Amino acid sequence: HSPRKQRWFMMRVTPFELSGSRYFVIAHQDVTERKRAEEEVSHLARLDGLTNIPNRRAFDEFISKEWRRCARLQKPMSLAILDLDHFKLLNDTYGHQKGDECLRQMASVLKKVSNRPSDLCARYGGEEFAIVWGDTPLEKAQGLADKLLRDLIELKIPHSRSPVSQYLTASVGLAQSLPARTNCVDEIISKADAMLYEAKEAGR
Ligand code: GH3
Ligand code: MG
Ligand code: MG
Repeated sequence: HSPRKQRWFMMRVTPFELSGSRYFVIAHQDVTERKRAEEEVSHLARLDGLTNIPNRRAFDEFISKEWRRCARLQKPMSLAILDLDHFKLLNDTYGHQKGDECLRQMASVLKKVSNRPSDLCARYGGEEFAIVWGDTPLEKAQGLADKLLRDLIELKIPHSRSPVSQYLTASVGLAQSLPARTNCVDEIISKADAMLYEAKEAGR
C-alpha cells in the first residue's frame, strides 16, 4: 500500500433494544483527512521553519533512538556540532536576510553528508548545526566533516569583515562514542561541544 492510498476509519458501536431484542448500530466514519492533517502537523513540528531540515526536537529524538540502536549493535556513533564563525558580524555587514540565506545554504551542505537512514543533520539552534552519524567510526566521520567544510568553502559566501577569511567559515567539534548501557547521549554531546570550543579557541 502506498501511503496516499491508505485510509483510516473510526468505528462507532451503539447498542439499543427493540421489542425485547438487542441490536447494534455500527457506523464507520472515514477520518483519513483528519489523520493526514495530524501527520502533517507532527512532521512540521520536527522541521526547522527557516532551513527545512530537522529541528532540535527531531535531533533529540533521533540521537536517543540511534544511540540505543548502536548500543544494541555494539557500533560506534559519531557526532559533529558545527557553529558558523563570526556570524553576528555577517548579519551586521550584509543584513539578516543575507544571513538567513547563508543558513539555508549551510543546510544544503549538511544534507549532502548525511545520506543514510542512520544519519541525521539538524539545526541545533541559531547558527549551530549538528550531524549524527550512527554506526560510523571517527575516521569515517572525519572524512565527512572535511567534505562538509570543503563544500562550505567552495560556496565562497562573502564575509569581508571576518577576521579569519574573506569567505564564511565554520568551526566543527567532532566526537565518537561507543554507546552502551553504562553511558548516555550526553557523553557524546559534551565531547563534541568541548571539541567545538577547542576549534573556536584555536582560531576558528
Ligand atoms: P563565533 O565565531 O564566536 O561563533 O561568533 P558568532 O558571531 O557566530 O557568534 P554569536 O553567538 O556572537 O552570534 C551568533 C549570531 O547568529 C547572532 C545572531 O544574530 C545570529 N543568528 C542566529 N539565528 C539566526 C537566524 O535565524 N538568522 C540570522 N540571519 N541570524 C541568526
Ligand atoms: Mg553559536
Ligand atoms: Mg558562531
